[in-house]
Amino acid sequence: MTEASVSGLACEARLNLRNLPLYIDRISDRLQSFEADATQEGQRLDFRFAFGGASFDMERLVMRANAADRDGLARIKDLLATAVEVYAREENPEIVWTGDLAGETRLAQFREMTVTHVGDLTPHMRRIRFAGEDLSRFVKFGGMHIRMLFPTREAPNPLWPVLGSNGLPAWPSDDRRPVARVYTIRALDVANGVIDVDFLVHPGESVGAAWAIQAASGMKVGIIGPVGRPVRQASWYLMGADETGLPALARMLETLPAETSGMAFIEVADEAERQPIDNATGIEMHWFLRNGVPAGEDQRLADAVRAVAWPQNDSAYGWFAAEAAAAKIVREHWRGTLGLGRDHTLAAAYWRRDVAGLMAG
Ligand SMILES: Cc1cc2nc3c(=O)[nH]c(=O)nc-3n(C[C@H](O)[C@H](O)[C@H](O)COP(=O)(O)OP(=O)(O)OC[C@H]3O[C@@H](n4cnc5c(N)ncnc54)[C@H](O)[C@@H]3O)c2cc1C
Repeated sequence: MTEASVSGLACEARLNLRNLPLYIDRISDRLQSFEADATQEGQRLDFRFAFGGASFDMERLVMRANAADRDGLARIKDLLATAVEVYAREENPEIVWTGDLAGETRLAQFREMTVTHVGDLTPHMRRIRFAGEDLSRFVKFGGMHIRMLFPTREAPNPLWPVLGSNGLPAWPSDDRRPVARVYTIRALDVANGVIDVDFLVHPGESVGAAWAIQAASGMKVGIIGPVGRPVRQASWYLMGADETGLPALARMLETLPAETSGMAFIEVADEAERQPIDNATGIEMHWFLRNGVPAGEDQRLADAVRAVAWPQNDSAYGWFAAEAAAAKIVREHWRGTLGLGRDHTLAAAYWRRDVAGLMAG
């Protein structure tokens, strides 16, 4: 029986790379952080995801992907091509997939969405509801986030990306190219085809916040996703977030099992920015109010997370999302000082002071 008949769909791409062995450890590490189990047999590395498989043949310089369905295959092609493009960047890799679904131009991870409702949760947090077709893939793969594609002054009528032969989005020329920012799906209703996104309306020139301020029913954006690493299931969580991480933190508190325990620290500008969270878990919530200290300058959130003793519990997980400097402090503490691995912690920069368009990871 061939690999394709076991798994449904299969494809491969040649890797014309001189130094693949130099990159393969980091490629493997990245794929494992997306919950792949890795095994090696001689010159072949295999990765098993919940939704399909992948392999690297180090001798023949070929990577292969297989999955039961189109969404799964598109996801694996995207994960493999991204890892190769990132870690083998110096060789400018040219990836061309052959096999099932080669030549497709429909980007499986893209949807055009239409605004159906705009409302303010707090003075600076705006919840926008979007409707779109066939949103089931956004509950798959464990990623909670999306890349939102906005029209801008320079490209008021953007063209949406299509699927490139490398398995990644292919973009139109700059005058029609939308601008991307990362947001979290705060809530998702697949049956009714809607998602909610909470936008922080922050000061300064921007794309995402500026778009949210003038958003109105009927306006269109594109979304690509889901993106982001899955949060591991655990019985105890230590969480920290500022307003940008709050939508993800709140979604977790509302959806994790009731018996989950731990601590969650949340930083917002002031009392008026506190929002109700329907916490379904035993995780204790603690709020910090900046009360006049500019966003990104208050270290109390990172210090509070650092001060919590890590439990002697193998089912514990640390999750942190805030400004880059705070995320660095927490990451260094968890990974460096405590020696915890990626499988137990995720400390991500969700924005960086004075930098536009930061994409975590
Ligand atoms: C995985 C992930 C999920 C995210 N989810 C959400 C979400 O659900 N809701 C949400 O609001 N944000 C979220 N963010 C953060 C958001 O992507 C950034 O804040 C992004 O910079 C917003 O884009 P922008 O166009 O508004 O501002 P940009 O054009 O990127 O930045 C313009 C200026 O604004 C500053 N700036 C950016 N963010 C802030 C801030 N929070 N406070 C003060 N100044 C800021 C920048 O430093 C820069 O000087 C997420 C980020 C990641 C990586």
